[in-house]
Amino acid sequence: GASGLISPAEVLSDCLVLTRHQIEVAGVRVETRLDSTGEVRISRTELQQVLVNLILNAVQAMPGGGRLTLTAEDAPDGVLLAAEDTGTGIPPELQSRIFDPFFTTKQAQGTGLGLSISHQLVSRAGGRITVQSQPGQGSRFEIFLPSTVAA
Ligand code: ADP
Ligand code: MG
Repeated sequence: GASGLISPAEVLSDCLVLTRHQIEVAGVRVETRLDSTGEVRISRTELQQVLVNLILNAVQAMPGGGRLTLTAEDAPDGVLLAAEDTGTGIPPELQSRIFDPFFTTKQAQGTGLGLSISHQLVSRAGGRITVQSQPGQGSRFEIFLPSTVAA
């Protein structure tokens, strides 16, 4: 879709509604701090695709339940979004590969395309996506989206 000015906090909130069923079935507790007021130039549906994948990845990493913390905060030059889970975590040797096309550790329901596409979409909007993870403790994905993009 066309890239208009959108509120990432609003899109994140929409994505929670879209994934509510999976979150409930998995017994995941959600905490949100959607404090940002900034707007960024990115396609709403593309950002939805990115955030829904982050939420579902987090839920799938917590089969026995857990806590998912979603935040959106204003940064000096854009908006910082984060999804933090208390799931399986990602082994250090795999952390550089999770953004590769078709990389998945899932038996059936994984295409391995979610993070690869997310990386492309976020980069195209001038932003970046990063991960920090501790096996056995959980993972934190951050997405920075700049408030202005050089033409
Ligand atoms: P898929 O979800 O189809 O496997 P993704 O590109 O979304 O593909 O994710 C790639 C891989 O990265 C996953 O298979 C999993 O191994 C790992 N991963 C992504 N998010 C998380 C997370 N929150 N916790 C643990 N592992 C994750
Ligand atoms: Mg995925």
